[in-house]
Amino acid sequence: MSRSEQLFERAVTCIPGGVNSPVRAFRSVGLNPKFISRADGAYIYDVDGNRYTDYVGSWGPMILGHNNQEVREAVIRAAENGLSFGAATEAEVEMAELICSLVPSIEMVRMVNSGTEAVMSAIRAARGYTGRDKIIKFEGCYHGHSDALLVKAGSGVMTAGVPDSAGVTAGCTKDTLSAVFNDLESVENLFRENDGKIAALIIEPVAANMGVIEPEEGFLQKLRELCTDNGTVLIFDEVITGFRLQTDGAQGYYGIRPDLTTFGKIIGGGMPVGAYGGKREIMECVSPVGNVYQAGTLSGNPMAMAAGLAELRILRDNPSIYGHINSLGDLLRRSLRDLFEKYGKNYQVTGTGSLCCVFFTGTRVTGYGTAKTSDTEEFSRYFRYMIEHGIYLAPSQFEAVFLSNAHTKEDIAEMLNVVEGYLKEAA
Ligand code: PLP
Repeated sequence: MSRSEQLFERAVTCIPGGVNSPVRAFRSVGLNPKFISRADGAYIYDVDGNRYTDYVGSWGPMILGHNNQEVREAVIRAAENGLSFGAATEAEVEMAELICSLVPSIEMVRMVNSGTEAVMSAIRAARGYTGRDKIIKFEGCYHGHSDALLVKAGSGVMTAGVPDSAGVTAGCTKDTLSAVFNDLESVENLFRENDGKIAALIIEPVAANMGVIEPEEGFLQKLRELCTDNGTVLIFDEVITGFRLQTDGAQGYYGIRPDLTTFGKIIGGGMPVGAYGGKREIMECVSPVGNVYQAGTLSGNPMAMAAGLAELRILRDNPSIYGHINSLGDLLRRSLRDLFEKYGKNYQVTGTGSLCCVFFTGTRVTGYGTAKTSDTEEFSRYFRYMIEHGIYLAPSQFEAVFLSNAHTKEDIAEMLNVVEGYLKEAA
């Protein structure tokens, strides 16, 4: 029995499903998870000494590749001064100033410990600011695991094939309205039916938790207008897209200014971090200035700030990183389309920048409904072939391929070779 299998046997007896986050389970693809011992650059290694080219990147944060020397050294230096003070530090000011300088819509920002917390807090701030209760979210978008957002959520919830979660009361979700991604009419109807009641509309500007789905031309712009006209706070959940598409995220890429933005993943450089920020008049509703209460024992902790600052500074100072990862994304998407055409498959290849996805369906994927037309049995076969041949993908149809600055054209060529092997075998 491999060491991974041995560890899994132990893990399932004392950790639910053997994993500390359901997205790490390989259940939906009919396998047990690999236990990882280390990672470097574009590669991760399991406890049995197998090397994989990693296209998960810890679900987004590792945009520079694993074990980046500058980030690692910044964390070690910070650790030498103490792990947590629970008091204000210079690094927090530098982090806030850096985020505000890179993302024009952010006038003030508050650090938290995860994307889930960032979203919960942004919604509370929007409700406090507007004095309204209802929020709009989109089917298939994932905004963390807080009660009110687990409504037709993407990511692990979608992988498990359940629309909602047990344990979430009807009371918690009664103010959460669901719209359809890329379907303006569904949003307009909700605004009409709930006139003057909608505090916030939250969206992943590029949906990356139901596979990857881009907003259609003009969609985000129209949401901006609807929110402005209705006095609703527009929240972009940039936990994935923030600092990934470019330093000012999807909002810069599509030229839209949201009122609030949530961050996570990349801004922590691999440490547990989230942040929410935006318009000063909304952020000043947050305690201790205003009466929207939000707090955190470890928020802004020195090591997380050190890792995040090092990562963000590298991204700010080296714009060529975006040139590299985005062109690898273009190359991967283009080459996958060519390969599928060669083998007579009309699979959908989606994504933008360094985010990519393959849907095993002939239907054009524009949202939750069409994403679910993908043949998940076929995805499972594809996943198993890829991992057997050294390519580590997220073990779910409804997640993204994440590229990093450590990936090379040679890595992409290797991946395409393996995909071709799969297509030959499947033929
Ligand atoms: N928002 C988005 C868009 C996400 O992708 C995620 C996590 O994947 C979250 C929020 C929640 O972040 P976390 O897992 O750090 O709580």
